[in-house]
Amino acid sequence: MSSALQIVWVYPDLLSTYGDRGNMLILAHRAKARGIPVQTVEVRSDEPLPTGDIYLLGGGEDGPQALAAQRLNADRGLHRAVDRRAVVFAVCAGYQLLGRSFYAKGAECAGLDLLDLYSDRGPTRAVGELAGEVDPTLGVPMLTGFENHGGRTHLGRGVRPLVRVKTGIGNDGVSEGAWKGTVLGTYSHGPALSRNPGLADLLLRWATGEETLPAMDDTWPTRLRNERLSATGLA
Ligand code: GLN
Repeated sequence: MSSALQIVWVYPDLLSTYGDRGNMLILAHRAKARGIPVQTVEVRSDEPLPTGDIYLLGGGEDGPQALAAQRLNADRGLHRAVDRRAVVFAVCAGYQLLGRSFYAKGAECAGLDLLDLYSDRGPTRAVGELAGEVDPTLGVPMLTGFENHGGRTHLGRGVRPLVRVKTGIGNDGVSEGAWKGTVLGTYSHGPALSRNPGLADLLLRWATGEETLPAMDDTWPTRLRNERLSATGLA
């Protein structure tokens, strides 16, 4: 077995319509910059999920999202990964399908039941900048992202909200995203980890067990963050 950090991009054929593949590139770049060997694997929906360290799920339209949920429930590889405390980072459709249920094309669909939450449909489509304070226990600066979804997400007691919303809608206009253990979901595209290098490093620390990672030159991500946060009056 390889000793490199295995990053698994789940179902690029179904969950990759919003540029979230960038999250894999950012994680690989930030790991390599710290001398951590990385292997990235892209697993299509007709293939079994391999054993990995970090699993990434992206956004998707309703039809592909429903199919991804069916195939992941049949495969069970993501459930096994969560049981072994692998890291899961899921965005938008990927986030919704970690819950008990979600709506796609007007029908309720079974999710993977990996996080204590469910999603229904909101009165409007949430489109635009999304920002707010990250759960202070995570030690990550303000989240900035872009959202584009029709669903609304309701959290149970078994998860913590990721963010207190200052701009945008996220789960319900009050909170955005959720996390438990090393499983974290968000509505943020951007891709999220290009705008939030602190979140990328949190995932890398969870996956490697390192308490801290060496600092790196974040001049460009910082400029991007400041530009986007100032566009919504938050910087
Ligand atoms: N289909 C889902 C919704 O509209 C997720 C969309 C997305 O991934 N951007 O709520």
